[in-house]
Formats: sequence, C-alpha cells, structure tokens
Amino acid sequence: MNLPLIYDLDLPALTELLQTWGEPAYRARQIWHGLYKSFWQAPEEFTSLPKSLREKIAAGLSFQPLTPTLKLDSSDGQTRKTLFALADGRQIEAVLMRYDRRRTLCISTQAGCAMGCTFCATGQMGFKRNLSSGEIVAQVIYYARLLAEENLAVTNVVLMGMGEPFHNYENSMAAIDRLNDAEGYAFGARRFTVSTSGLVPAIRQFASEKRQVNLAVSLHAVDDVARSAMMPVNKRYPIEELISACRDYVQVTGRRITFEWALIHEVNDSPETAQKLARLLKGLLCHVNAIPLNPTTGYAGQPTSRERAAVFQATLEQNGIPCTIRMRRGIDIQAGCGQLASRSV
Ligand code: SAH
Ligand code: SF4
Repeated sequence: MNLPLIYDLDLPALTELLQTWGEPAYRARQIWHGLYKSFWQAPEEFTSLPKSLREKIAAGLSFQPLTPTLKLDSSDGQTRKTLFALADGRQIEAVLMRYDRRRTLCISTQAGCAMGCTFCATGQMGFKRNLSSGEIVAQVIYYARLLAEENLAVTNVVLMGMGEPFHNYENSMAAIDRLNDAEGYAFGARRFTVSTSGLVPAIRQFASEKRQVNLAVSLHAVDDVARSAMMPVNKRYPIEELISACRDYVQVTGRRITFEWALIHEVNDSPETAQKLARLLKGLLCHVNAIPLNPTTGYAGQPTSRERAAVFQATLEQNGIPCTIRMRRGIDIQAGCGQLASRSV
C-alpha cells in the first residue's frame, strides 16, 4: 500500500496525525519547519527529532512524490527543465526561468490535460490524472532546495505547466495555501499566478475567495468560431461569458487580469485582430501577454514573425491595451507547455 504523502498534509492535519502517535504538537511544527524552511526531503535529514520519531515518520509517511528523470538546461543556462516521474509512473514537468532578478517557476497541476486545445502539446496528449496538492507543492520545494544551494530563492510561481489548474481546483488552491502558510514556506500570495483556459464558474469562485493570487486567462482569439476551433472549452463558455466573468473578477478583487495570447502566423496576429481585441477588452483592468507560438508536432500553425509581433503589440497599445511580447524561453529544451513530457511518453 502507498503511504500517505507528507506534502499532502497541512499543519493541522500533520499535528493531528502526530497526536494519534502520542506526539506533542510542537513536534509537528518542527517537522513543518524542516519541510518548508530547511527543505529536508527524507526522514533521516530530520536530525532535530528523536530517532524513534524519525523511524515513525519513515514508516508512516512518504517523502518522495517526484523522481527527477531528466534535467535539461537551455543553451544560455537560464532555463532549467525537470521531468519528474510520479509514484505511479506518470510524468510531469516543472521549469525554472531566470531573468532580470526573478526566478520564476512554472509548475504542473495535472498529468496531461482534458481541455484539448489544438495548439498545445499537453492538450494533444489528453488527460491522465489530477495531481494531489502535495505533488504540486513538491515541485516548488524541489526547486527551492536546489536554489537554496546557491543562496537563492524562487521569486514567482506560475501554474502554467501541464494541466488546467481550474479543472483541479481544490488541489491547486490547497497547494497555494500550503506554500503560503506563514509558519512554513510563507510564499507571498501575490507572487503566484494561476492560468486558466476559461472555466467560467471556477473564475467566479476564484474571485469570490479573494486570494491575492494573480489570474491569467488564455484567450488567443476574439471570435467564437476561431476560439472554439482552437480551444474546445469555448463551446461551453463562449467569449462573451468569459469576458463578463473577467470583468466581474476585476470588479470584485480590484486586481488586474493578464490575457495570454499565443501569436500564430496569419491566424491571430494581424493588426485587425489586435484592434478587435482592444475593443473586446476596452475598460477592463488588464494587460496582454503575447508569446510567439511554440510549434508542436500535432498542430500545423507557425509562430508569428518578430515584425508582426511588434505591429500587434503597437496596435494594442495605441488602442489603450498594455501588451508585452514575451520571448520564448528555453525553446531549445522544449521548455514550453508540456512538450518534453508528451514527447517522451
Ligand atoms: N491550462 C492553463 C495553464 C497551462 S497552459 C491554460 O491554458 O491557461 C499555459 C499557457 O501556455 C496558456 O496560456 C496556453 O494557452 C499556452 N500555450 C499552450 N501551448 C502553447 C504553444 N504551443 N505555444 C505557446 N503557448 C502555448
Ligand atoms: Fe490544457 Fe492549457 Fe494546454 Fe489548453 S493550453 S490543453 S487548457 S494545458
């Protein structure tokens, strides 16, 4: 039988478990600090605990949710991608990107994805399963430990790896809350970004819960025919409903939304499309994050050119919508969007 994963527990649950073993609450706190401040990842590292308790946690809990099976560094050394095997052999990935003084971590919330976006490598592989909250947490702690060796820390976490976080809502939010715990990793809520393909009820729920977490919405098209062709979720929640939920989100939270836009050559990168997009987003507290498409084997579209990207950006800005063009990072290691894991399975 599989042992329960220690990263799946929050502090009250860990305290309760230790109580059933006849251990005082302060022992739970010591373990918590070991996990989330010292990044210990095996029972024998908890040297501040009595040996008998170390043996109990070794016998009763699992510490190894993720086994790194492949580590790849981009040629400029700024991007590290790790492919992990989960306990059941499923594969996921998490990517660390260093730029400016940021160290942004992109983590997965599901193995595969059920949303079926045509241009996305993860969508092309289909849905395998949800990650538990602990499997999501462990990706961050893995990199936190790695960076700590350089006296560095993760500065931002984006839930933009494999999977649709709002299709695994409870576990994704539990992971954020656990990493945010003031007595543990204490990672600021504002330094998380959750990205969704547009699950409207979840956007509304997320707004009502008022976490200080940033929201990104993957838009990619301005009309329903085009968007439904790329993103089947649009048939369920068309653009008007989606944008209306986004407007309500901004109203309720006062927070700015990011719209993600993969620039695909002659599909959604024309100045006319930029104008329509500006009209759609008019008056909404937002900005557009555009990124040239990462080509995938299952989709014929090609990335936009530098020139067309620049015109797209300028057109949006002239029409009052802030837009940044992100460069594709780690393209030489398939660090975009589930490409490595889908290739190796
Ligand atoms: N499922 C969520 C988060 C994971 S995908 C979502 O869809 O928002 C993270 C981002 O990568 C999304 O904006 C998605 O649209 C984008 N993406 C997926 N495949 C891509 C590709 N081939 N090129 C560029 N961006 C891509
Ligand atoms: Fe899933 Fe996001 Fe990929 Fe769409 S873009 S298939 S929602 S991971």
